[in-house]
Amino acid sequence: LFAGPVDFIKGVVAMSGLPPADRVEVCFAGRSNVGKSSLINALTGRKSLARASNTPGRTQEINFFTLGEEKYLVDLPGYGYAEAPVAIVAKWQALLKSYLAGRSTLRRAFVLIDTRHGVKSVDDEIMSLLDRSAVTFQVVLTKADKVNRIERERIIEQVKGALQKHPAAFPELVVTSSEKGDGIETLRAIIAGLG
Ligand code: GDP
Repeated sequence: LFAGPVDFIKGVVAMSGLPPADRVEVCFAGRSNVGKSSLINALTGRKSLARASNTPGRTQEINFFTLGEEKYLVDLPGYGYAEAPVAIVAKWQALLKSYLAGRSTLRRAFVLIDTRHGVKSVDDEIMSLLDRSAVTFQVVLTKADKVNRIERERIIEQVKGALQKHPAAFPELVVTSSEKGDGIETLRAIIAGLG
């Protein structure tokens, strides 16, 4: 796993609340219900770690976790809630923009896409924001166990096609299932390799 402790540090609602930029960090973004908490839990080997991010009141925060002694794992708020009030959405978009544009230690964003659904327009908007912010991002397909091989291959091609218009996109996808453990070790190795 990761050397050293994996712990929840804090939830941030304004740029002034960010922890000091003294560690390399990776962030995770995705539509609500994409399987982000499950993936973070599988990745860190801590069953209930990301539950902290999903408790009411925490869902609009940028949540920071330590990943051993050297990195932060940053859990961005799930997007695409149909019921979210416009004012709240605007507030978190502003925070997200500032964070992505101004975080010098952010090495990579992982954009989570549900293998059943592929890239939706809200995902495409986040990817465009990452392009504009010059943050390299990599797509992680989630819940791969929910579709058969043929459907999975079809979605992989759809996603790869969608990535072609995003200059900040890393071309390789990581296909995961938090339920079965598929792809988790690969993702850990990718994160470990980011200096
Ligand atoms: P979040 O809102 O993005 O944090 O999503 P959650 O991690 O809470 O997952 C949403 C739902 O999808 C839950 O019911 C999970 O049990 C389910 N889920 C998450 N990952 C997987 C997976 O890899 N396989 C399957 N079959 N279900 C998953």
